[in-house]
Amino acid sequence: MNCTSKKYLALMNKVLDHEATKQEEQVLDQHLALCEECRMHFNQLKYSTNLLNQLAHPQLPVGFTKSVLEQLPLEKRHAIREWGSRHPMLTAVAICAVPTLVMIGARHQNRSKNDYVLINASSDQS
Ligand SMILES: [Zn+2]
Repeated sequence: MNCTSKKYLALMNKVLDHEATKQEEQVLDQHLALCEECRMHFNQLKYSTNLLNQLAHPQLPVGFTKSVLEQLPLEKRHAIREWGSRHPMLTAVAICAVPTLVMIGARHQNRSKNDYVLINASSDQS
């Protein structure tokens, strides 16, 4: 982005993390009203933040994504969000893939447990 001030980028992350003060939010709002580039970037960040939040799929424990994100250092958290805003399609695909993989994994575990029970039952009969 051409907007040279990294100050606003840091502010965007702070606002999205609900860590910004009212004053900081105002500063950002004022800049976004004037700077289309930052406004677009902020919207992309918001979009990828929403996608990340959707990771908290019913299959996963409540607050799973949140706790994972919270365990990451702030710098990494912002880097993931940055990556997500640069690759919204990939992020969406990754987010759809995670619950599917969890489901496949769970189903596979169940099946091998059932097989074991079946083998046990048949060896008892003979
Ligand atoms: Zn700007």
